[in-house]
Amino acid sequence: MHVLTDPEAVRRWTSGTRADGRTVALVPTMGALHAGHLALVDAARERCDTVVVSIFVNPLQFDRRDDFDAYPRPVDADLGHCRELGVDAAYVPTAAAMYPEGFDTRVEPGALATGLEGAHRPGHFTGVTTVVTKLLAAVRPDVAVFGEKDAQQLAVVRRTVTDLDLGVEIVGVPIVREPDGLALSSRNTRLDPSARAAAVCLPRSLVAAGDLVRAGERSAAAVERAVRAVIDSERAVRLEYAEVVDRRTFEPVTEIDEHALVVLAAWVGGVRLIDNCSLLDDDAGPGV
Ligand code: AMP
Repeated sequence: MHVLTDPEAVRRWTSGTRADGRTVALVPTMGALHAGHLALVDAARERCDTVVVSIFVNPLQFDRRDDFDAYPRPVDADLGHCRELGVDAAYVPTAAAMYPEGFDTRVEPGALATGLEGAHRPGHFTGVTTVVTKLLAAVRPDVAVFGEKDAQQLAVVRRTVTDLDLGVEIVGVPIVREPDGLALSSRNTRLDPSARAAAVCLPRSLVAAGDLVRAGERSAAAVERAVRAVIDSERAVRLEYAEVVDRRTFEPVTEIDEHALVVLAAWVGGVRLIDNCSLLDDDAGPGV
């Protein structure tokens, strides 16, 4: 496996790969790889001849310094996982390589990025679109793979790629969960045992939402109340938001239809977690 640490090196490597007639898929991550990331690598492998995994804890997308500092960085273990998975190249740039002295450009997303995560984490999506644009510009993949766990991010990335004519196919991969339903996240490693136990109320609240809709409920307000009730019953968890939105616009909806997505963010033992599920979709819900 090639380990590449600056944009020029990764550009050279992918140019050579393409010149050999092989397609390239990129899986952007911030490392601390888990089974959710591995599902992205599988999806990448299914679609392209070669897979590049980028690992970069992007300072630009963190709204809080303590979260950036506490973010896990097990680089050697991550490279080991990539090797085991047969990843062709790991792109592991330093912050100095990504944002050298004088760096002064941002890719500013529009309306899709204003609510929910955008409202609660100022600057977050500008950091995401800027780093994703840089990664796509350096790697120039045929396909880039993202998780539906970060549903709003996926929508913002799709919009950016369309609006800026970046010419890469964006693939979304369903959320991978623990057996009890908790969505896998690099931040889960920061949950102590009691916080980990409490966190299961998040997928349970989504199951409650799904049950309600299956029983015929179509009021978004009623579904949001049900989600809140499950989470509020857990004292160790503080809900930041729970909303039913249209998955295409991330605008709140009042009536639930096939585009409805319930999205939430909550604090559990000092760790901020997000989750979501479709409400009237074939494979909706955490299924626990
Ligand atoms: P991160 O390293 O957390 O920035 O995530 C990198 C990519 O992995 C993003 O596209 C995430 O949406 C995706 N991802 C993270 N957790 C999961 C999960 N549990 N299931 C599916 N995709 C995930």
